[in-house]
Amino acid sequence: MEAGVEPLVNDGFAGEATKRTLGYLQEQREKGKNIVGIYCCYAPLELIRAANAAPAVLCAFANKTIEAAETVLPANLCPLIKSSYGFIKTDTCPFFSISEAVIAETTCDGKKKMFELISDIKPMHVMDLPQLPDQKEALDNWTVMIKKLKGFLETTFGRKIDDKDVEQEIKATNKKNLLMNKIFDFAAHKPSVVSWIELYDLTYLGQASTTQDMLPLLNSCIAKLEKRVADGIYHGHATSPRVLVTGCPVGGDATKVFKIIEEAGAVIVALDSCTGMKPYNNAITEGTSDPYAALSRRYLELPCSCMTPNSRRLLELDKLIARFHPDVIVDVVLHACHSYNVESHKIKEYVTSKHKLPFLKIETDYSQGDVEQIRTRVEALLEIIPKK
Ligand code: SF4
Ligand code: SF4
Repeated sequence: MEAGVEPLVNDGFAGEATKRTLGYLQEQREKGKNIVGIYCCYAPLELIRAANAAPAVLCAFANKTIEAAETVLPANLCPLIKSSYGFIKTDTCPFFSISEAVIAETTCDGKKKMFELISDIKPMHVMDLPQLPDQKEALDNWTVMIKKLKGFLETTFGRKIDDKDVEQEIKATNKKNLLMNKIFDFAAHKPSVVSWIELYDLTYLGQASTTQDMLPLLNSCIAKLEKRVADGIYHGHATSPRVLVTGCPVGGDATKVFKIIEEAGAVIVALDSCTGMKPYNNAITEGTSDPYAALSRRYLELPCSCMTPNSRRLLELDKLIARFHPDVIVDVVLHACHSYNVESHKIKEYVTSKHKLPFLKIETDYSQGDVEQIRTRVEALLEIIPKK
């Protein structure tokens, strides 16, 4: 974004999504809400909010805690798991500290086994996530897990969760997601009107914050973006290659990949991961007789590589490509994330054959040691894109 352009979120924390979100959660705690740590986008946020609790994302993206984690965990493990565990081991995660309970899901093996190592520190509830999402039992089984989570929250916090409150939260999420997607649409603009840092900041806060608390911010962001369009203020240029980034969650030290892409002259227009646009996909069906089944249906639609087959990821990519018109697809795979790594081949075949788009897989971790190597590969990729 050009110098002098008013930041989208003007609270002094631009680019510091975790600090802003921590501040928000501390306020919620002071207002009497319980804080529930979560590790995954499959955690049903609406149920947590209906329990008068606020969700705190515990996935970590910092290299600094990995050394401590490796005294217990194998070095050849995904950095997200090691970093998250390292923060807990060194007792330096403020999000874990303020969490009064933790919700975990059986997604990848590394996370599942890491949960066992921290299960005696805070009350923990593990949800058995069906991994064959297209089988008819999956919906029923996940609904059962969601109802069991309801029981856990009620027992832990000594408060009944009313079905009407769950329904209210479903409506609230749909409202928030609609506005979030209105903001994402400004990245579809040619050239884009919004930067990846601004999108990242909003999507991060959006996980923790209620719709009611976020409404003024979201509306002011939309007004600012409309003004940017009217004033002809863009992020990048009409000739900048447009990049869709897909793959593993990317935050903190891993955002080096985003920075390298933009330093090479491209513009990131779509963030297809759990730290980006993915949690805001698809509406939850409102007004059903069973709001837990409605939640189950929506969450099972999330296209994570722990699912097999993960065909929805391809369908979502079709939608993102049609919407954001990328010139290139970059798949970010964290070291030792086997499911995203293996799936990368399928993604490459799909986007190069169906969409005729150049594709680059970047395997990385949270260290800075591979920055120049990634830069060389990104620059080589951008060179093959026809000049506009
Ligand atoms: S990538 Fe998969 S396991 Fe990781 S947060 Fe997203 S849904 Fe959960
Ligand atoms: S990035 Fe991959 S290995 Fe790491 S926690 Fe997510 S799914 Fe598991």
